[in-house]
Amino acid sequence: MTQTMADMVEDEVLQQFEETSLEVRELYREEGEQARRKAARQGLWLAIAVYLQFSVIDILLIPDVAAYTIAARFAVSVTALAVVEIQHRMNFRTESVELACAAALVSGYVGWLVPAIMTGYAQNFSYFMIFGAIFMMGANLFFRFQFLLSIVSSGIVLMAFFVALYLFPATGSYQIAMGTFYVSCFTFTSYVNWKLNEERYNVFLNALEAKIQHNEATERGKALLRLSRTDPLTGLENRRAIDEKLRDYWSDWQKVGTSFGAILIDVDFFKKFNDCYGHQEGDRCLIHVANALSEMIKQYNGSIGRYGGEEFIVLARMETKEQILNIAEAICSTVENLALTHELRRDGVSIVTVSVGAAFTRTQTGAKLEKIIHEADRALYLAKAGGRNCARLFDPTDPQSSDESENIAALLKIAIGQNLVSLVYQPIQDVKSDRVEAVEALMRLKMLDGTSVPPSLFIPVAERTGAILELGRWAIRTVCAELLADDHVRVVSVNVSPIQLKTPGFATSVATILGETGVAGSRLAFEITEGLEMEMHSDILRCISDLKLLGIKIWLDDFGTGFAGLSWLRLIDFDTVKIDRSFLHDCSSPSGKAMLQDIITLVRNRGHKILVEGVETDEQMALMREFGIDKIQGFHVGRPAPAVSFQAKRAMRKRSFAVLKSA
Ligand code: C2E
Ligand code: MG
Ligand code: MG
Repeated sequence: MTQTMADMVEDEVLQQFEETSLEVRELYREEGEQARRKAARQGLWLAIAVYLQFSVIDILLIPDVAAYTIAARFAVSVTALAVVEIQHRMNFRTESVELACAAALVSGYVGWLVPAIMTGYAQNFSYFMIFGAIFMMGANLFFRFQFLLSIVSSGIVLMAFFVALYLFPATGSYQIAMGTFYVSCFTFTSYVNWKLNEERYNVFLNALEAKIQHNEATERGKALLRLSRTDPLTGLENRRAIDEKLRDYWSDWQKVGTSFGAILIDVDFFKKFNDCYGHQEGDRCLIHVANALSEMIKQYNGSIGRYGGEEFIVLARMETKEQILNIAEAICSTVENLALTHELRRDGVSIVTVSVGAAFTRTQTGAKLEKIIHEADRALYLAKAGGRNCARLFDPTDPQSSDESENIAALLKIAIGQNLVSLVYQPIQDVKSDRVEAVEALMRLKMLDGTSVPPSLFIPVAERTGAILELGRWAIRTVCAELLADDHVRVVSVNVSPIQLKTPGFATSVATILGETGVAGSRLAFEITEGLEMEMHSDILRCISDLKLLGIKIWLDDFGTGFAGLSWLRLIDFDTVKIDRSFLHDCSSPSGKAMLQDIITLVRNRGHKILVEGVETDEQMALMREFGIDKIQGFHVGRPAPAVSFQAKRAMRKRSFAVLKSA
């Protein structure tokens, strides 16, 4: 509608009255209505004031008929004012008010002219006649009449004048001069009136066009703003918009204590979904999830946005953290109920699910806005670690999500520089030769006061914060320098997180370390555990094949504890598979023993070497021999010890060898 109107106005301006659009004309009439009405009423009052003052001139120039002319003046004035004021009060149309004014103007002239023409002061009257022109000017220029009304009323004045001129005994030259003057005056004022009307209409059109353009610009601005705050795929609010909302929620919480929860939602194995079904299907999946969630969130009066890739965020004002957890759980089941097929995930589930992490406002000194998102993120991490398709609420007393983990994250940043991190090595024994053929490097971290932090606590934090990348490189370099460069040990296995394998340039950095320390790649083994990042990215496979090219062996750690182990076995040609110690420790029962045997058979049939972890007793050792295991590791063989103890052993062996040779 606005567009059509804009076009019409543009046409109007271009065609300059050639083709008049009725709609615009009507608008012009409506817009000018109030102004014209006011001008007519005010104009009439002013004109009548002047008109009545001319009574004095009547007395001076035509005193014999002055009584009549003055009476006529008052009669016309009072009638006209009465009519217009009544019209005004009764809200008459502007046209009627103008018509009344025009009628007053014409009657004012004719009403005066009729008695005045009877005067005996012919010469005075002949001068006085000239003032009739003022009525014509009034009709054409003084009032803001429509063009037609101006022409008709000034035309009547002109006609009345000619009638009077005809009746009035005057000389021919007077008639020619006055007649010409009146006609010129009529023509001139009518022309000016026409121009004025045209000008007014043009001004209106320009103003209308400017107004429409302004409205359009405002609309465009609003649309752009909407666009810049909307996620184009799902139509939900984007990160920018939801961040603003978060600020509002947060300031309400700070100012008036309205508590709220922040819920982060991550679609499980979404990369796998994209790989299997293509990006278009992936987009469709996100749209389905987004629609279902935004529909569900309505009942809680919350806000939902897309936070990035496959991550959504929900904000909801609630009174208790239990309510937030309920919403988080409802989110999980809403997506589960969609039953969108996701056949190729490796955890036995065949539909799309989400992991949900929630956090609730809690009073903390100096807490910042980002804190709640950070806490929700940590809860999300735990939800993923807990097997996905579940919701977790941030629990400040949980060591994994507590402030302690925050401290650990800070500690990890300075760990290498401040010598807070070190490596210990646990021997790995070859069962046939009974010799320690390798050692496993295990990382240790101590706090600034010397208290040690267990790897079960700091490794997940390092993985989450990315500190594992630098620590991992440091570990490989240290292993090479401490044990391998001087041949203290033949092979060292180093634990490597999938996050390291996923990072571009990891294999190159390992090659650099090998080059700098002069150690052959075959002296290193990398142990990979199915961690959080269980999806086997193509980047990981590429990195593993690059590492193999360097001669590095790849071992599968803690086999049997995760659910991706079997598919990893299929995808990667591991040199050695380390069977998790829990299987050995379960061997006291016949079923546990059978289970271990089955696992061993499976791994052996695939052609991998087998290492069993957690050998602690003679009985377990004997069992390993019975099962024909290749390598063992555990307290029975040796506890993790610092590098120096292996360096000393090697020196001792060297010394006894020298003694033997000399004997
Ligand atoms: P893991 O790689 O499976 O390491 C073996 C863990 O089992 C070590 O615990 C070791 O001390 C323990 N262990 C060894 N023998 C026995 C035994 O006979 N009985 C029992 N009960 N336990 C035994 P630790 O040092 O606490 O390490 C825990 C985990 O931390 C490691 O498991 C590994 O996954 C991770 N980790 C350690 N160092 C590193 C590292 O440098 N990088 C990465 N990415 N992860 C590491
Ligand atoms: Mg290990
Ligand atoms: Mg292990």
